[in-house]
This record gives sequence, C-alpha cells and structure tokens, in this order.
Amino acid sequence: MATAPLTGRHWIAGIAVPADQGSFRATCAETGTTLEPGFGEATIAQITAACVAAERAFEEYRRVTPEVRAALLEAIADEIIAVDEYLLERCQQETALGRERLLFERQRTVHQARLFAQVVREGSWAEPRLDHANSERNAPDCRSVWLPIGPVAVFGASNFPLAISVVGNDTIAALAAGCSVVVKAHPGHPGTCEILAGCLNRAIARCGLAPGLFSLLHGAGHEVGQRLVQDLRIQAVGFTGSLAGGRALFDAVSRRPQLIPVYAEMGSVNPIFFLPQALQENRWPPWVAPLVGSITAGSGQMCTQPGLVLGTTDPAWHALRRSVSDKVSAHNYTLLHPGIAASFRRSTAHRASQNWLSEPTSAVVAGESVSPCQVAGAVFQTSAVELLRNSELEEEVFGPTTLFVDCDSVDQMLAYARQMKGSLTASVFAGPDETESARQLIDVLQTKVGRIICNGFPTGVQVNHAMMHGGPYPAAIGNFTSIGTGSIKRFARPVCFQNFPERWLPESLRDQIENSTLRLIDGKFVGGSAAP
Ligand code: NAP
Repeated sequence: MATAPLTGRHWIAGIAVPADQGSFRATCAETGTTLEPGFGEATIAQITAACVAAERAFEEYRRVTPEVRAALLEAIADEIIAVDEYLLERCQQETALGRERLLFERQRTVHQARLFAQVVREGSWAEPRLDHANSERNAPDCRSVWLPIGPVAVFGASNFPLAISVVGNDTIAALAAGCSVVVKAHPGHPGTCEILAGCLNRAIARCGLAPGLFSLLHGAGHEVGQRLVQDLRIQAVGFTGSLAGGRALFDAVSRRPQLIPVYAEMGSVNPIFFLPQALQENRWPPWVAPLVGSITAGSGQMCTQPGLVLGTTDPAWHALRRSVSDKVSAHNYTLLHPGIAASFRRSTAHRASQNWLSEPTSAVVAGESVSPCQVAGAVFQTSAVELLRNSELEEEVFGPTTLFVDCDSVDQMLAYARQMKGSLTASVFAGPDETESARQLIDVLQTKVGRIICNGFPTGVQVNHAMMHGGPYPAAIGNFTSIGTGSIKRFARPVCFQNFPERWLPESLRDQIENSTLRLIDGKFVGGSAAP
C-alpha cells in the first residue's frame, strides 16, 4: 500500500499535531546512526487535548454494541497487515530484532486483535450475572456485568515494538473492553509508533467511530508519561517496562486526588530449577540448545528470559553450565538502543568485578567501529549461600546473560524458592523419581509466580484464554494477566443493577438475549458456545 512519509508529529484524535517542543531522533540499532525525522516532547496542552478527546470519545464508544467493537479490532488487524514492509523495515532499523522475530511479533499482534474480537462478540468475558428477586428471602432483583472503566493511558516496552507497544496487549484489551486510549510512544522506536498510529487512525475512521478513541504522544523524557497519568480524565494505566518505570508511574498516580488502577508488567528473573535427576544419566545435553535459546532470544531482551538457573553440584550440572556458558558468551549481540546496551555493560561489569562470582566468561566485542548497541554475552556463576544473602543477585540484568547458582541440595533450592521475590515465571525440571521434590517446589512457587513451567523454558508467551502473564510484585502490580483474553478485565469494572425494569438494563442482563453468551442465572451457568 502507498504510505506517507513519517512526520514526527503527535497524533491527537486523528490529527497530526506538530511537535514544537524538544527534539529527539531514533537510533539505527545496527549502525548507531540517527534516523529521520525528529520527534518532540508533547506539551501540557497537547496531553490535555488528547485526554479531553479520549473522554469525549469514551462517552460514545462505551455505548456501542459488541459487534462494533469487534469490527474495530478486526479493522486494526487488517490495517497492520496492509502496511507490511513499511512497518517491518522501520521497526528493524529502530530495534535490530530481525525479520523473523518481527514477522512473528506482527502475527501475534494480529492474532491478538482477531481473538479479542471473537471474545467481545461472544460476551461472557463480562460475566453477566442475574439473581432474580426472591420474595421468600425478601431479596431484590440484582444483576451485574463488567463495564468499561474510562480513558486508559498506555505505555509500551522497547523490546516488543509491535506486540506490546502502540497496538499491543494493553491497547487491544482496552478497546475490547470499551475504553478509549492515549498512548505514550516509546522513545526507542518512535517511527514504528507513528506507523502503528496510522493503522489505528484508519481503522477508527473506517468504522465511523470518534477519532478521539486513540491518540499518540511522543516524549523522550519521563515528563510526558508522568503528566499523562496525572490527568484526571485517565481512569487506568497499562504499563509494560522496567521496574523503575512502573514504580514511578504508580507513585505518580498515588499523588492524584483520585486513585486509579495501575497495571504494570515489569522485569523478572524467571528462575529455572534443575532437580538432580533431570540432568543425570546423560539427560542434560538435550537441554543445552533450548536453554541457550531462551537466554539469548531477542538478544536476551525478553521479560521471561531466565536470569537465574539453579542446580545441585554434580558433574552433569557443571557440564551443562560450561556448555551453555561457552555458547552464550561466544557471540556479540545487538541490543535495542544505546541506553539499554550501556546499562547492560554496567551491570555485567559490576557482576564481573564481584569476587563472589567465579568464572565469568565473556566474548570480546570485535572491531573498532561497532554500533553503540553491541554487547558481549556473559554467563556468571555463584553459590546458593551467596544468592540467599545477596538480594542484588535477584535483580534483572536486561540482555544476553544469566547466573548459574550451585546448590548443595534440593533443600537449598527450596530455601531460595521460599525467599525469592515475585517473578513472572519459574521452571521446574524433574526426573522420573523426583515427584516429591518437584511437588514441594511447585507448592512454594505457586505463591511466587504467575506461570510455572514443567520441564520447559519460560520464553514464548502464548496469547490464549488461559495465559497468566503477571505475578506478585515486583514482577507486576495488579493480579490480572497482561497477555491473553483475561487481560480485558483490567479495563472494566463490575456494576450491579438492582430492581431495574427489564428495558433499562444493559442488553446482556435482560432475561431474553439474542446470542448464546454464558451467564450465571440464579446460581446456574446458562448458555455458552464453543470457545473462539
Ligand atoms: P522502560 O524504560 O521502563 O520504558 C517503558 C515506558 O515507560 C517508556 O515509554 C518510558 O518512556 C516510560 N517510562 C519509564 N520510566 C518512566 C518514569 N519514571 N516516568 C514516566 N514514564 C516512564 O522499559 P524498557 O526499557 O522499554 O523495557 C525493558 C524492560 O521492560 C525490561 O525490564 C523488561 O523485562 C520489561 N518488560 C516486561 C514485560 C512484561 O510483560 N512483564 C514485557 C516486556 C518488557 P520515557 O523513557 O520516555 O519516560
């Protein structure tokens, strides 16, 4: 399709608004050169204009039928496919994630929009519940359903420029719920953000909906995001990114006179526990390639990357560690932007300088004129005793690295599991006779993580109905998943209608409805069709 050149402008309610304050440019991750055009910081007036438009659009959009919402989500999917190479090329320049990865990410985003469209049409996500009046118990008629919460501020992460950005988890979930959206563009890939904003604008126009349903604001500093979440029209925040960023936005919201939910998905170390038998009798060699793949996927820039690998000290464990270490540290990796690369170098240099870490191995970055985004992979090793007394070792180092932890016994693994911080995932590898040890470990891990993986690796999150992508703080703030259809609920809240005449009720709460939505009527589930 013919595509207009990038403008570097903000998009407020379908209109390109000049960025007349500040200026920043994206960096080409492969070469380190700057990319045109320049982008600016949104002003207070522009942030306010986006929020006012979002509030107005919400008043209209919250009343449209599920069919209209579903059609919008499908139109967004179509528009993303239509921009094709234009999107993929700019995104590759800004992130260096590679064509295969970007095609996968685009597919995941399109799948997500279409899946959510089906869920919205079907309707049971909103949990309609009907309790008819009961004169014997003197009980009134009560009916409840989840309704959209209001305008949502969305912040995407640098490492998922398509699937967790302008049209990512949060935007799709918010639009599915019936909310309008103001996105703070990620400064690491502003051009990709602008192309995706065009997709959203065109889809909204095609569906004849209010353009204020979506706005995109740029900014390279924290000011724009901080001000956005303080606008009292914003009724929820969807954030994916660093612990520091999520916490800062949560703190900013806590200074508002009206508190609102902040759903923040943040960093995590995703420990892997190898019980002894899982590696013995030559069971370890097949785990090397997938473990290396999980540590280095997306150049190690995955929220589910395994940052800690624990095993009991025996020859098989040491052989696994050496083999993984050799492979991870034999390569250089191009990270998303110079800031992330600099932070990775700082963190790995700090680890290498600590005398509690033995055998750090690290490739030398070759050549003189490499991109500022290039780093060497690094694998570290420590003991469980050290891990138990030094909480710094539990901090995420974002990039191609991991920390192997030597445990004297399974009890030491359990001791760590009991004291570990919240994480998105944990993986447990167990041999055929280790049911009891695995059971004990899994029993503890259920209280610590959002997803437990049995004999498998944590990277590769599925967008489906059962996914839980979240976890206890500091992995996330809020108990809902941010990926998969369960994420819609973050942007809705239940409202109960008591003693209402039938004709005043929302459609899904009337006694007779046209579709087969699953509903809880007087304590019994009624209706429902095959899951989309
Ligand atoms: P980031 O630096 O926190 O940035 C995310 C967004 O938040 C950006 O738009 C950023 O814009 C904004 N932001 C950051 N700090 C802020 C502050 N103090 N006030 C206001 N806005 C702020 O994260 P990132 O570097 O893009 O992403 C990498 C991190 O995300 C890693 O830790 C990774 O594990 C995590 N992540 C988590 C998940 C998950 O689902 N749990 C998924 C992907 C990535 P400005 O910098 O312009 O303010």
